[in-house]
Amino acid sequence: MAAELKRADRLAALGELSARMAHEIRNPLAAISGSVQLVALRPWVDEKDQRLFSIILRETDRLDCLLRDFLFYARPNQPAKVALNLHRVIGDLCALLATDPRMEGVEVDNQLPADLVVQFDKDQCTQVFWNLLVNAAEAITGGGRICIDGALVKEDAGPGEVRISIRDTGSGMSQDDLRRVFEPFFTTKKGGTGLGLATVYRIVETNGGRMTINSSKGKGTTVTLYLPALC
Ligand code: ADP
Ligand code: MG
Repeated sequence: MAAELKRADRLAALGELSARMAHEIRNPLAAISGSVQLVALRPWVDEKDQRLFSIILRETDRLDCLLRDFLFYARPNQPAKVALNLHRVIGDLCALLATDPRMEGVEVDNQLPADLVVQFDKDQCTQVFWNLLVNAAEAITGGGRICIDGALVKEDAGPGEVRISIRDTGSGMSQDDLRRVFEPFFTTKKGGTGLGLATVYRIVETNGGRMTINSSKGKGTTVTLYLPALC
């Protein structure tokens, strides 16, 4: 038991250390990126150098995204649970994503009942659905649909929970990939960080919920969340 605890402590300390490291790397990275952008404006910079500068900027941007996602995963904030109307959360998110190029050709069908309320941290809820909607959109090529619906599932005893499903008509995944989706850094995408679903899983768990994913290659994917209802 003591050894188990020690190991858990060590892992937590390691997580905190790497999160601090990630945080510290972001500042100089921003300075590098800002300086390169300024130098790139100088009149003597020729086309060849411009190309090199844009490679530096693209790669610093990629590193920054990786560090940001890693920080979300390694150092999640303690949830501040409030009553959230899910129909509205998804509606706001869809409005925000409407201009995102990844949503082109993707129809989002928000069928959530207007009175579905969960207890969840507001920012973390947005983060969860943002990740799930973007994943669904990225799995869709040449047009498709994302359908979101949900219902209150009331058990006889204990507090109720809200079931939400996000179904997409995208590429789906193989059963081998499906088994690995919650592993940090598992990605099949060029430029993906593989931290989206690992973070979503962690957030859902710390807010008292759970989730499952079903997928069929070539047909699509369904993510199902069970979140604590407001009782
Ligand atoms: P990333 O999006 O950076 O790759 P995620 O953790 O969000 O990382 O997803 C991990 C992997 O799970 C993706 O690379 C993809 O292979 C698979 N995946 C996640 N969501 C879906 C989906 N809706 N349809 C098909 N594959 C998915
Ligand atoms: Mg993702």
